Amino acid sequence: MLHDKLGREIHDLRISVTDRCNFSCVYCKSADPKNYVPHRDLLTWEEFLRLSRVLVGLGIRKIRVTGGEPLLREGVVDFITRLRDIKGLEDVALTTNGYLLPEMARDLAAAGSPRVTVSLDSTNPEKFTKITRTLRSYEKVMAGIDAALDAGLRPVKVNIVLVRGFNDDEIVDFARLARRRDIVVRFIEFMPLDADHAWKRELVVTAKEIVHAIQPVFSLEEIARHSPSETALRYRFTDGQGEIGIIAPVSIPFCGQCSRIRITADGKLRTCLFSLNEHDVRHLVRNGATDHHIARFMENVVHQKEPSHRINEPDFVQPSRTMVYIGG
Ligand code: SAM
Ligand code: SF4
Repeated sequence: MLHDKLGREIHDLRISVTDRCNFSCVYCKSADPKNYVPHRDLLTWEEFLRLSRVLVGLGIRKIRVTGGEPLLREGVVDFITRLRDIKGLEDVALTTNGYLLPEMARDLAAAGSPRVTVSLDSTNPEKFTKITRTLRSYEKVMAGIDAALDAGLRPVKVNIVLVRGFNDDEIVDFARLARRRDIVVRFIEFMPLDADHAWKRELVVTAKEIVHAIQPVFSLEEIARHSPSETALRYRFTDGQGEIGIIAPVSIPFCGQCSRIRITADGKLRTCLFSLNEHDVRHLVRNGATDHHIARFMENVVHQKEPSHRINEPDFVQPSRTMVYIGG
C-alpha cells in the first residue's frame, strides 16, 4: 500500500488528461485563458497508462479521469477502456461537464465506464450561461445527462458548486431533481482554486446552510459513508425517495482521511489540490527512467503529502495552478 508519513493510505488517483475546456466556469477557469500547456508537453495516452500501471502496482485502486474537459481530448474513450484492463484497478470514473455526452455516452458505456459525474450548476438556462460563460450549452448538458442514463451508465452523479449570489437559490430545486431522477446530486463548497481569484469565504455556501435549506421542504437524515475516505457527507430523504451528498472541504475539512493524489495533464504529481509544489514525473518518463525508479520517486513524493489544505489558516496561499489545470 502507498501511504504517507501520517499513515494515510493512498488509493485514489485523479488524472487530468487535458487542461483545455470548452466552458469557463466562474469558479474555475479564466474567461480568457492565456497559458494553455503546449501539446508536446501534455502526457501521451501511453505515458498516462504507464504511470497508471506503476501506481496500481503501488496500491492505487481507483482512477478518476478528469480535466479540463476530458471528453475534448481525442482518444479518451480508448484510454478508459485500456485503464479498465489494468489488473488490480477496481474502479474507473469520469468527471465531465457533459457537453459531449450526447455523442459519447454510448461509447463510454461500451468502454465499461459505469461511473460518470456531470457538473451542472443551475437548472435555469440563463443562469447556466452566466456561470459557465458559454452560450446554448444548458440544453446539451441536460441532453448529456439523459444520454448517460439511457446508455445505462450508473450511477450518474451531478456536481453542483454553490456560489453565493449565483445559484444558492436553487438548492431545493436540485434536491427535487435528486428525488425525481435516478441521479445522485452532490453539492460542493466553493474552494479557492479559481482563476479569477474571486473566492471569498462569504461566497461559500456551507454544508450546514445546504441542509437547513432543504430540511424544511424535504426531511433528511444523515447516512453512514461507504468508506472513511469518502469525500461526501450523505443524506437520504426520510420518505426513501433518493439521496444527496455534500462535499464540504471548507467548512468540514476531511484531510485526515484523504486518500487522493493527482497527475496533471503535463505530468506533474500533486499530493493535494492545494499543493504549492508539484513533482515532475514527465521528465522521468521521457528520460529513460525504469518503472522501478518511477515507483520509488512516487513513493517518496507521496510520503511527504501535506497534512491539510490550510484553507482556514490565516496565512493560506492559493496555488498558482487553478482547478482547470489541476483536475478536480
Ligand atoms: N470539466 C469537468 C467538469 O466540469 O466536470 C471536469 C473538470 S472540473 C475541474 C472537476 C470538478 O471540479 C467539477 O465538478 C467542478 O465543478 C469542480 N470545481 C471546479 N472549480 C472548483 C472550485 N473552485 N471549487 C469547488 N469545485 C470546483
Ligand atoms: Fe471547464 Fe470543468 Fe472548469 Fe467548468 S469546472 S471551466 S467545465 S474544467
